[in-house]
Amino acid sequence: MIQVKNLTKSFDGQQVLKNINLDIQKSEVVVLIGASGSGKSTLLRCLNFLEVADSGEIWIDGEYIDPKKTNLNKVREEVGMVFQHFNLFPHMSVIENIIEAPVHVKKKRKTEAKQKAMELLGKVGLGDKADAYPEQLSGGQKQRVAIARALAMEPKVMLFDEPTSALDPELVGEVLQVMKELAKDGMTMVVVTHEMGFAREVADRVIMLADGHIIEEGHPAQIFTSPKHERTQKFLKQIV
Ligand code: ADP
Ligand code: MG
Repeated sequence: MIQVKNLTKSFDGQQVLKNINLDIQKSEVVVLIGASGSGKSTLLRCLNFLEVADSGEIWIDGEYIDPKKTNLNKVREEVGMVFQHFNLFPHMSVIENIIEAPVHVKKKRKTEAKQKAMELLGKVGLGDKADAYPEQLSGGQKQRVAIARALAMEPKVMLFDEPTSALDPELVGEVLQVMKELAKDGMTMVVVTHEMGFAREVADRVIMLADGHIIEEGHPAQIFTSPKHERTQKFLKQIV
């Protein structure tokens, strides 16, 4: 579903991603871990072209994405993203948030988009919040709306950048539950998270990033019980 070849990215002369190679299968759930500043967000942002890499190739579902030629809005439709801080439109109700892109970008009919939005709200457990405004919702509810909004574009891949890091502890579980169900439904997912319980239970693979390199990857059972790289060992000790 995603193929990354020799990806590099620098900011102000500092290389943040160094020769990243990555293959993600359809329906695979990959959890990306690593210290702050290791390049996790930059990698996700490159995958849906919020950032354009300096060199290397990205293929999505068998198609080479040439940032100079491909319509990147089209790519962003196929690769959904959920952010730490939700990024909902504050002046729009929940349902308006969800139908915005399907109606204005995908040119779906409003009635059809609304029907789909209600279905998705049911799925994330917020069927009764369609007419609420973001400020009336808890962080966990906002994040579930953000997930529904991303799903409304019918993406092939979902990227999550620390989706529960801004939440009060008691609200983390409801968001992880929605993500778990999404994984069970076969969504291809790349998730940056410090929730190791989620990684153990849901991830097919854990990838450890350090200084812009993939230094280790493997099945969660292996990475968490017998990490090979000293930096992975140290990192895992720090976060539990
Ligand atoms: P992580 O998500 O693992 O914490 P990031 O990908 O956010 O790491 O950042 C990796 C490095 O790139 C950091 O040193 C950060 O300061 C730098 N960086 C990220 N985005 C930008 C940007 N837009 N401009 C300049 N530097 C950036
Ligand atoms: Mg980050």
